[in-house]
Amino acid sequence: MSYMCLYCNGMLALDSLCPLCGKPLSDVGRLEDYSGPYSPYRSIDDLKLTNGYPDLALRLCIHQTYCGSCGYSAVMPIAERQA
Ligand SMILES: [Zn+2]
Ligand SMILES: [Zn+2]
Repeated sequence: MSYMCLYCNGMLALDSLCPLCGKPLSDVGRLEDYSGPYSPYRSIDDLKLTNGYPDLALRLCIHQTYCGSCGYSAVMPIAERQA
């Protein structure tokens, strides 16, 4: 049983809008690719605490999103799907 992120695999495109200016947010990739090996683990631990489902939390792909228009950026956890 394997899981994959549809966004990383290019099967889905991010369709979120910037909360500040309403322009489409761009997906700049997985957080671990973006900021090094330490922050994603901390993020996943935080998610475990908040949603209470450790197995599910481990199936989350943490993406960094960015608005090229105003510079807003946010972290978006995306649930991976069974392949
Ligand atoms: Zn992904
Ligand atoms: Zn914006």
